[in-house]
Amino acid sequence: MDRTTSSTLFGRARTLMPGGVNSPVRAFRGVGGDPVFFRQGEGAWLTDVDGNRYVDYVGSWGPLILGHCFPPVVEAVTAAARTGSSFGAPHPGEVELAELICQTVPSVEKVRLVSSGTEATTAAVRLARGATGRDCLLKFEGCYHGAGDSFLVKAGSGVETLGLPDSPGVPAALAQLTLTVPFNDLGAVEAMLSKRGRDLACVIVEPVVGNMGVLVPKAGFLSGLRELCTRHGVLLIFDEVMTGFRLAKGGAQALYGVAPDLTTMGKVIGGGLPVGAYGGRKDLMAKIAPEGPIYQAGTLSGNPLAVAAGIACLKELARPGTYERLEATSRRLAEGIAAAAAGVGVPLTVNRVGSMWTAFFTGLPVFDYPTAKRADTARFGRFFHELLDRGVYLPPSQFESAFVSLAHGEAEIAHTLLAVKQAFAAL
Ligand SMILES: *Cc1c(COP(=O)(O)O)cnc(C)c1O
Repeated sequence: MDRTTSSTLFGRARTLMPGGVNSPVRAFRGVGGDPVFFRQGEGAWLTDVDGNRYVDYVGSWGPLILGHCFPPVVEAVTAAARTGSSFGAPHPGEVELAELICQTVPSVEKVRLVSSGTEATTAAVRLARGATGRDCLLKFEGCYHGAGDSFLVKAGSGVETLGLPDSPGVPAALAQLTLTVPFNDLGAVEAMLSKRGRDLACVIVEPVVGNMGVLVPKAGFLSGLRELCTRHGVLLIFDEVMTGFRLAKGGAQALYGVAPDLTTMGKVIGGGLPVGAYGGRKDLMAKIAPEGPIYQAGTLSGNPLAVAAGIACLKELARPGTYERLEATSRRLAEGIAAAAAGVGVPLTVNRVGSMWTAFFTGLPVFDYPTAKRADTARFGRFFHELLDRGVYLPPSQFESAFVSLAHGEAEIAHTLLAVKQAFAAL
């Protein structure tokens, strides 16, 4: 496949932007080679600047659950642009999106809209700290909660792929306030809460992990976290930036029946435009300015274009049968990949919840950070490029979730599974 134009653009980009990109994992360091530059998305397909076409399993890293250029989203954004791209003042759209979120996500009584997932998690932790008067937070090794200073401790995929365990520039004094334990290890959480519970403002978790590849919470893990947090007076934050409206209408908390105190969202709720949100218990949200003393603000928060895209997206998802369709397509794909690997004796573990999945190049179960690290990343890199050359675009890292959208149909799955079979044979 000829990708000359992409390579030329990347050469220019590298002289202008760090690593030639505006977000590190896009640079292909996890798989080698030059990143692909795209000019058009349409449904489940991407067209690169050289005219090559790919079935897209990145979906802009999660937001595009309806596929690219879903007509009602395009129309909503276009209409909003005509009536005013930003007011810096209240407008009806933000009320409608807030209503859709509060009505759909069981534990969210009140919500604040922001412009990214990072903003949402940063604000949620500030709220937890302000509300409890405690400074520490507990996160899980390999989980990612955005690029905020407090989270860049054992922070998963993007950081992991670059081999930076922590980031320079994060003060040690701040990093010390971030405690970590292994995902899926309730015993470790219990021990930490017994020891440090009185210092802890919150436990923050990806209820289904996407950011060290997909990890499935063990039975009782999330409900156990709920119980331990309640017992120690520690707030429980579900970071549903990836899982919110992706795994079920009400997110992972609806799927697993566990109610956190605070929830962060992003990605899908913006329909492909920059929207984030944090919300939860009314008494906690009442502490946010101007109702309360904890400050958080944003010039473009609740932006009319972004909110219009989010509303159009959530309305489409609210139709009956959408999540069942996503589940059926995703299952067919994941089972097909596992069968293809087994057929040629490639050790592979496919983790999947709904339309989030990762194929780990290891025959052993993957359920936390050390087990994810057993995957053969060199082999993944070869697999990635074999697929790329056959018109299938996976996330360019072993430690990321791939996403199926509602635009993926029979033809896309068939195209992918054929490419997968040929790629395994070529490894
Ligand atoms: C993507 C992601 C974030 C960060 O969101 P941005 O919009 O990239 O700032 C935070 N938490 C989780 C779980 C994510 O997947």
